[in-house]
Amino acid sequence: MSSKKVVILPGDDAAPETVYAAMEVMHSLALPLEFVEFPPGEQWVRGETDKAARAAIDASDSTLFGSTSGKTTAVTYLRWGKETYANVRPCRFLQGFRSPLAHPEGIDFVIVRENLEDLYLGLEGPLAALAPLHLHSRILRSELDTDEPGRYAIKVITERNTRRIARFAFNLARQRKAQGRPGKVTCTSKYNMLRESDGLFRRIVAETATEYPDVAYEEFIVDDFARRLVQMPQMLDVVVMPNLYGDILSDAAAGIIGGLGLAPSGCYGDHYAYFESVHGTAPDIMGLGIINPTATMLSAVMMLEYLGLEEAARRFRNAVSKVYADGKVLTPDQNGTAKTREFTRAVIANL
Ligand code: ATP
Repeated sequence: MSSKKVVILPGDDAAPETVYAAMEVMHSLALPLEFVEFPPGEQWVRGETDKAARAAIDASDSTLFGSTSGKTTAVTYLRWGKETYANVRPCRFLQGFRSPLAHPEGIDFVIVRENLEDLYLGLEGPLAALAPLHLHSRILRSELDTDEPGRYAIKVITERNTRRIARFAFNLARQRKAQGRPGKVTCTSKYNMLRESDGLFRRIVAETATEYPDVAYEEFIVDDFARRLVQMPQMLDVVVMPNLYGDILSDAAAGIIGGLGLAPSGCYGDHYAYFESVHGTAPDIMGLGIINPTATMLSAVMMLEYLGLEEAARRFRNAVSKVYADGKVLTPDQNGTAKTREFTRAVIANL
């Protein structure tokens, strides 16, 4: 098999510790991959490294990315430049995860988060700048008072992005159904309150549902959904939602299976995908050698699947699962005493 190119962006703070752990496992698997590695964020000279990283990303098949606190600037290119509009965040309980729930068995759903718009375009500013627009509040039934000192933020939902994220979610549900899952899409947003923006999101997802008669469809207002996520997560299969709710609720979803150290993610576009953990850079535990690399390892597993290396992905995933099933070599976030290195060695021993 011809080798594929993978860019490694280790990210910032404690994130590189997880990326290097995942790399160690991939090296042990002797994969037909060529890694193009960049330094952690601290060493980035804004401009030049970013330019080189963009060129490497363009020449690659995928990127494994450590989280950034803003220093690793190439993430903007990975997301908006490569149009990776679907942020896929699987939430699957494995035996041995330290879940706070009494009965976490059978939790196996995927959050599909719109990745490019909503409140994440950085459209913020002083309230006074809105004065020329004479905005009328549907709720207050009066013009917005822009004399009050304050700030605004703009939420953008487009038909195009909603339609493609909806199709992505339904296609994923169809694939999962073929593997024995229920085949259901749940849509959530605050459509009762934000009738124009979240209302559009809901309408387009519901319209898309009619193209997939073989996939079940349901919708919940996001606050009601948050409760269901905690009380009956086993009822979920594929959940599609706008960017901000996806960001918040996927941390909650990680929480119900046992924490941020366990939750992987992939960002998919039509022509590219990159992979990173759900968690941030964990600056509070940087350099202690105790960060849990599972989330990044399972993100690397998703990357191997994306690259068509299914057998290696299966071995990697099974090796991680076995460490948890054995329960002997776990990091402190999972009530263990193992260091990141020991956990990594245990995974490699199970390959
Ligand atoms: P960001 O703003 O960069 O997304 P955050 O504020 O969400 O970051 P995280 O960096 O995700 O915060 O960390 C939140 C808490 O969870 C921290 O106490 C951190 O140490 C812990 N944490 C995050 N990831 C892991 C991990 N892989 N292993 C152990 N603890 C983790």
